[in-house]
Amino acid sequence: MESVESTEGPGSGGSVWEQLAPGVARRRMPHLDVTIGLVVGSDGVLLVDTASTLREGEELRGQVEALTGRTVTHIVLTHGHFDHVFGTAAFPGAEVFGERGLDGYLRRERETLLADAVRFGTDPAEAERAAGALVLPTRQVTGETAVDLGERPVRLVHAGTGHTGHDLVVVVPGAGPSDPTVVFCGDLVEESGEPQAGDDADPAHWPGTLDALLALGGETGRYVPGHGAVVDARFLRAQRDALAERFGTAPS
Ligand SMILES: [Zn+2]
Repeated sequence: MESVESTEGPGSGGSVWEQLAPGVARRRMPHLDVTIGLVVGSDGVLLVDTASTLREGEELRGQVEALTGRTVTHIVLTHGHFDHVFGTAAFPGAEVFGERGLDGYLRRERETLLADAVRFGTDPAEAERAAGALVLPTRQVTGETAVDLGERPVRLVHAGTGHTGHDLVVVVPGAGPSDPTVVFCGDLVEESGEPQAGDDADPAHWPGTLDALLALGGETGRYVPGHGAVVDARFLRAQRDALAERFGTAPS
């Protein structure tokens, strides 16, 4: 991907893909402002999360194919919530990576995810269709896995638990100021609101996991939240402190 330009027609308000580094981009979906990440190497095309419905997944597939001239070869699911995984079936043939416990989580929670999708405003028929076609990971990540997309190595890291028990982040190492390290954080980081913590969150470990993310991305890293604008290391430290305060895990 030489550059990331608009795949939308006139009147769409400009490009929906935001370039973060050479071959690295993200877009924000209109529904729930969920982040979709894109990493393009010479051999492979990796998508981070797949949005809330098959229809959204199909839209993404068409956009990525128009943008890169290639099909998605790798999908990384940052965690199991419906707005990050329900579009996966729109990418047949792609290898699907998830933290090693994600498979079991998706098997157990399918009905809960469907109910959540409807509760958060997804069209019920679309939600049913997506839940029925839910794709389980084909590749389990324990600790860390390296993926070589060709001239663009990527690290998939379970940096710890927090937002869920199965959080996985995508680190795209940079090579200098014009090629910053990019970390796709999933919902471990949220910019558009307070991080969502449900029954499946792990509040006690969440602040420590953000420290691990800071170690991965460094001081000049660009951190892409699951929802909201791209943030920096300073924002991550502030969110870590706010979470520690909120959950009462701050050191006394
Ligand atoms: Zn989530």
